[in-house]
Amino acid sequence: MGPAIGIVGGGQLAWMLAEAAQRRQIALQVQTPSTDDPAAALAAGVVEAAVRDVAGTAELATRCSAISFENEWIDLEGLAPLEAQGVQFVPSLSALQPLVCKRNQRELLRRLNLPSPRWFPLTAACPPKSTPVTSAPPRSQAVCPEGFSFPLMAKAATGGYDGKGTAILQGLDDLAALIARVDPENWIVEEFVAFEQELALVAARDRFGEVVCLPLVQTHQHQQVCDWVLAPVEASHALQQAARNIAASLLTSLDYVGVLSLEFFYGRQGLLINELAPRTHNSGHYSIEASSCSQFDLQLLSVSGQAVPEPSLQVPGALMVNLLGFERRSADDPEADYGRQRHALASLDDAHLHWYGKRGSSLGRKLGHLTVLLRSSEAQQRRQEAMERLQQIRAIWPLPEETVAA
Ligand code: ADP
Repeated sequence: MGPAIGIVGGGQLAWMLAEAAQRRQIALQVQTPSTDDPAAALAAGVVEAAVRDVAGTAELATRCSAISFENEWIDLEGLAPLEAQGVQFVPSLSALQPLVCKRNQRELLRRLNLPSPRWFPLTAACPPKSTPVTSAPPRSQAVCPEGFSFPLMAKAATGGYDGKGTAILQGLDDLAALIARVDPENWIVEEFVAFEQELALVAARDRFGEVVCLPLVQTHQHQQVCDWVLAPVEASHALQQAARNIAASLLTSLDYVGVLSLEFFYGRQGLLINELAPRTHNSGHYSIEASSCSQFDLQLLSVSGQAVPEPSLQVPGALMVNLLGFERRSADDPEADYGRQRHALASLDDAHLHWYGKRGSSLGRKLGHLTVLLRSSEAQQRRQEAMERLQQIRAIWPLPEETVAA
């Protein structure tokens, strides 16, 4: 085995990275708060520490030649001294800085002139400082900046995921209520986009500057949580190229090494970038079975300083369905592992089940995913095939009715 690489985080992304690392005989060390976390059992070693615990990351660094991150909740300031001492973070902390918060992302996209929804900081909707703010400000105290109209989409700049930390604003009352409820410094508000589809792209750049991409895919959300992904999406060559160009511009201008995931809205306005994730992504899970090189392989290769190959689909397509908790079950409930449903899902044709082994279930919690390989090479037929497979899966694993994501 070569030198180990480290990953800060121990959830399902780190777990799938650990699986890929085992296949490639790369030793993967993880930093995660509990040895019950999904990745702990597969990793070559575990630093038992919270993901933002800098001392834990310093310990991880003593075991690894390079360190990457499972999610974007990174304490950049806390880690800066480690980088200054020679710890190799991949991507580097300076490449991560514009990506770790939604406001930084929007500013980056504006700087690079890349298409994204129009937005304003929530502070721009606050009453002037001289106006006394009561705990529930009257609607006259919130201002909708010129050029914007309701509905609007408000988002926490940091800490949000799976729709947590977002709010649809229907009018000035909602805007005023949001200002009263949150720290306006930490929120942005953007135009509500009437998109036709949501698309996603996983890209990677190696330390030699080579950029490669998985195919453009369609993502479908249920109550703001990714429900299913269809790969590849039927898109014109021009659209695919536009998405790849955006990814290459971003990666190159940030001198970013590693995997970067892009989420897009697609519709009348063309492609708009919704969100960037400096890591592997739910929209790329299908690549484990369907691609010559998975998103986890791309991360391992780029983080360990190797060249990334151009991935190619090995099958006409794939459908990935998230298995979201559809009821609350405590960890000691004998049915909490959903053995019956898992068996039925795994028995479907061309299906590959990934069960994350989390303890307990709650509504909307991502407990696993199922990838089904598709056979039709014609795009419309493939979509039809995918929707038929989705129905089969739904009969075994229903959607949560009222998601409170966990
Ligand atoms: P999170 O970080 O919680 O995943 P996102 O910004 O990706 O938040 O938003 C989650 C979902 O909410 C998106 O996938 C999309 O379906 C919807 N959404 C987000 N922003 C907008 C917007 N500006 N207009 C319309 N829908 C939006």
